[in-house]
Amino acid sequence: MTQPVLWDQFDAYLFDIDGTLLNSRDAVHYRAFHAALESVFNVKQKIDSVPVHGNTDPGILRAIARNAGVGDEVFQAGLPRALDCLRQEALRNCGEMRPELCRGVRELLAALERRQKLLAVVSGNLEAIGWAKLKAAGLDRYFAFGSFSDQRELRHDIFAHGVAEARRRLGARASVCIVGDTPSDIAAARHCGLHVIAVGSGTYGRDELRRHAPDWCIGCCGDLLITAQLAVNPDEA
Ligand SMILES: [Mg+2]
Repeated sequence: MTQPVLWDQFDAYLFDIDGTLLNSRDAVHYRAFHAALESVFNVKQKIDSVPVHGNTDPGILRAIARNAGVGDEVFQAGLPRALDCLRQEALRNCGEMRPELCRGVRELLAALERRQKLLAVVSGNLEAIGWAKLKAAGLDRYFAFGSFSDQRELRHDIFAHGVAEARRRLGARASVCIVGDTPSDIAAARHCGLHVIAVGSGTYGRDELRRHAPDWCIGCCGDLLITAQLAVNPDEA
């Protein structure tokens, strides 16, 4: 008989940032998108018209530019400048970042650190912006590395890069688990053949996340600590 998989048995945990570790209670990142779109593509549309949760920074820029009629070639040519502008604008205002930690995050990271797990972030943010949010939240020190969207627009490529780095550090047989808050995180984890913990601390509630069949579906990271021996799948266990 196959042994049940327990959430705390993995060698490495790769965390999404927005909605999983923290929620930004400021408009720094949001305003930086608009500055980049306007200065590089002369587009004044707000990013609210496209799905931002579970998307990536280049993916959001691409979707808005396309909606506004910017041709693919023009977009591709302007993308490096737009990413630069996004990065610089967010960093210029990073003193205004007000990240709100999701419940139990610090306790979970401390518990995993005590168990000597490798912790990293996998995020659709640009690298400089992702680290600025983590730093503002006081969480940056927990993470050994990050995989971001600067060179990878697709979420599953960002995750695959993170997994490759984890296994480069720990060995090819290291087990890796994703922690995320959106159906896109679940889909990208599955694409990479990984187990995934879905947390309802972002935009999506547990009922919606459960429909995408993650291995574990919990309200927030802190819930893992009170269900220490949670086996796949708790809802069916
Ligand atoms: Mg997220």
